[in-house]
Amino acid sequence: MEKTVAVLHGDGIGKEVMHSALKVLRSIGRRFDHTFKVKTGLIGGVAIDEVGDPLPRETIELCEKCDAILLGAVGGPKWDQNPSHLRPEKGLLAIRKHFELFANLRPVKAVPGMVEASPLKEHLVRQVDMMIVRELTGGLYFGEPKRKTDNDAVDTLTYTRKEIERIVEKAFGLARIRKGKVTSVDKANVLESSKLWREVVEEKKVKYPDVELEHILVDAAAMKLITQPSSFDVVVTENLFGDILSDEASVITGSLGMLPSASIRSDGFGLYEPVHGSAPDIAGLNIANPSAAILSVAMMLKYSFGMETEAVAVEEAVYSVYKDGYCTNDVKKDGYRVLTTTEFTEKVMEELEREH
Ligand code: ATP
Ligand code: MG
Repeated sequence: MEKTVAVLHGDGIGKEVMHSALKVLRSIGRRFDHTFKVKTGLIGGVAIDEVGDPLPRETIELCEKCDAILLGAVGGPKWDQNPSHLRPEKGLLAIRKHFELFANLRPVKAVPGMVEASPLKEHLVRQVDMMIVRELTGGLYFGEPKRKTDNDAVDTLTYTRKEIERIVEKAFGLARIRKGKVTSVDKANVLESSKLWREVVEEKKVKYPDVELEHILVDAAAMKLITQPSSFDVVVTENLFGDILSDEASVITGSLGMLPSASIRSDGFGLYEPVHGSAPDIAGLNIANPSAAILSVAMMLKYSFGMETEAVAVEEAVYSVYKDGYCTNDVKKDGYRVLTTTEFTEKVMEELEREH
C-alpha cells in the first residue's frame, strides 16, 4: 500500500520524538512492504517564527493532500507573552477545527513492566486497557450565547442529535474491534443535553446487538476510574466530561511519555499526536520518551490506514523494549537501564526488524 503522511514536527521535544516516530514508520514500511511518503509542514512556535502564523495556509493545503497527519508537539516559553492569535496552541485548535476532527481517542493501557509507575496499586492497574472517546468539537466549549457581566456569567451547553450520533457510532464501532463494551458517561439525571445523549446512545445500540452497553453518571465514572479502572473498555462522553476524565485516566498507567492520541473524523482521516506537550525543560537533551509518538504512529496505521497487524507490531515492539528491561529517564526504576531517545528508538526498530 502507498500512503502519504503530513508531518508537523512543531516545537521542543516534538522534533525529537517525531524523528523516532518516522524511523519506526520506515521500519514498518520495510517489514510489510508499504510505501510511506512524508510531506513536512510548519505548525506552532516554529511557524510563528518563520511565517508569522501558528497554522499557515500552506500547512493546511499540504495536510489536505495527505492521508493522515502526524504531529509532534507545540508551544514553549519563547511564545508565552505573544498576543492570543500568535500563540502556538492556536495552531492546534485551528487544525482540529479545520478538519472537523470531532472524535478524540485516548487509549490508556498498562504496559507490562511499567505498572509500578502508576499512583494506584499494581493489582488494580495490571489489566487496564481502555479507550476514552471524547467529543471534541461541540458542547460547552463551543456554546453560544456566552455572556459575562460584573455579576453573572453564562455558558451554554448545546448538542445536536447529529453531533451525538457520529461520536456514538465511533464508540460502538471501536468496541466491536476491541473488547465489546461501551460505557457512556453523562449527567442524565440533571442535564437535558445528557438526556438527549442517552436517548441517542440507546437508539444506536440497536445496530450493535453484540456490544454490551452501560450508562454511568459522570461523578460515578470519576470514582470508578480509580476504584475499578480495568472494568472499562470504550468510554464515550461529551467534550467537557471527556476533557476531565481523559486527564484523570491518563495518570492511571504512569508516565505522560507513553500516551498516544488520535483526533479523527468519520471518513477515517485523522491527526495523531502524543498526549504530552513540548516539554521545554528537557528539549534538545535527547532524553524524551519517544513511546507516545511511536504509539501514535500505531494508532494512525490502525485507524486511518486499516493496518491492524502493522499497528500491533509497533505496539508489541515498544512493549518488548520495556519488558527487556530498558526505559527512558521519565519512567526509570531499579533494575532498568535508562536509554536516550535515540537508543530507545533503535531498540524498538531492532524488535521490528528481527526475523518474524
Ligand atoms: P503543554 O502546555 O504543551 O501541554 P506542559 O508543560 O503542560 O506543556 P508537557 O510539555 O507535556 O506539559 O510536560 C510536562 C512534564 O512532563 C515536563 O516536566 C516534561 O519534561 C515531562 N514530559 C512530557 N513529555 C515527556 C516525554 N515524552 N518524555 C519525558 N518527559 C516528558
Ligand atoms: Mg499541558
